Amino acid sequence: MRKKKIWIIIWSICLALLLGCDGINNLQFSSGKTSTKVTEGNLEVHFIDVGQGDATLIKQGEHAMLIDAGDNSKGTAVQAYLQSQNIKSLDYVIGTHPDSDHIGGLDVVLYKFEWDTVMMPDLEKDTRTYEDVKRVIQDKNQKITVPKAGDTYTLGEAEFTIVCPQKSDYGDNSNNYSIGLRLTYGENHFLFTGDAEEESEQDMLASGMDLSADVFKAAHHGSDTANTEEFLKSVNPESVVISCGAGNSYGHPRAAVMNELRQMGIDVYRTDEQGTIVAYSDGKNIAWNCSPSDSWKAGEPNGSSGSKDTQVKQESTKAKEPTETKESEETQEQEEIQTVESSGTYVINANTKKFHKPSCSSVKQMSEDNRQYTEESREKLIEEGYEPCKRCQP
Ligand SMILES: [Zn+2]
Ligand SMILES: [Zn+2]
Repeated sequence: MRKKKIWIIIWSICLALLLGCDGINNLQFSSGKTSTKVTEGNLEVHFIDVGQGDATLIKQGEHAMLIDAGDNSKGTAVQAYLQSQNIKSLDYVIGTHPDSDHIGGLDVVLYKFEWDTVMMPDLEKDTRTYEDVKRVIQDKNQKITVPKAGDTYTLGEAEFTIVCPQKSDYGDNSNNYSIGLRLTYGENHFLFTGDAEEESEQDMLASGMDLSADVFKAAHHGSDTANTEEFLKSVNPESVVISCGAGNSYGHPRAAVMNELRQMGIDVYRTDEQGTIVAYSDGKNIAWNCSPSDSWKAGEPNGSSGSKDTQVKQESTKAKEPTETKESEETQEQEEIQTVESSGTYVINANTKKFHKPSCSSVKQMSEDNRQYTEESREKLIEEGYEPCKRCQP
């Protein structure tokens, strides 16, 4: 009996030496899960809270990738987050599509970190935000990789397959050009589709690709122009993560989507309520840094984060859109209309990338060279990467 014990001890020491410390840790983490082939550490998916926008960090052992980097104002925040996670270099940096709530902060990340591959869809956008990203890539003598649906890449012990865009032409709907991917680690799957809307979802379904996932990052911040019932049923996720800003003006996440998720019995995590959300996978099970949200609160299209009861009722089959407009907002709108001048609705400072009401005192101080008048809407300007002036609050 004693002899047997000694042999077990000797055998254990040999095994430990052979595997090294990491091996021992992993054996402890995944004890009893011999069917999982995962050995090189674990997978972490960080849904970084960037307000209204997207930024997801994926870590696997020494390997890392970033999908989107939030708005222009969030570049340094994303940089700080990556640094807090000891990220020195990124295997892949993906700008899902050229909208500023996705690639706004990307120039900072591409400038500050080492990286191997940057992926973006084949869609140029005539915005300063897009030009900034392109310039850093050029400065580093690198080129944009345009992945095709079906392409597969490895990230350490994990791998991912490009699931969209399935077509090269989606007209002028930039969201539908979003690069989406299905990440696999052991038996766990994560699906990311950027802002891909219904048309792209239909094309993914028609392609016959495997879209099933344990975790789905809700498309387009939980908008009802995406996340269609048919698509959600095909993905059949256990958990959905919604990345959106508290009280955002788009009304994300939309009531219809929240209703659907609730009826399907899906766990919902959301950055507007819970901040940065982290999922940990050992290749078989997924753990989270917080409990699912149980508010089931839908966004309000007018952007109010107020206490109005917008909670989705499980019984209601059709979700109602809040139509109420607050008095203060109405008067604000009237004020804006009064300040519209024939030369344009807003004045852009080409240097600071801020936009102002024509009546703003900053406009008078602005040099002629930097002053540009525009008819474009507030939303459009923000989408293009311009910031509203804090003084005149256009
Ligand atoms: Zn977006
Ligand atoms: Zn978008």
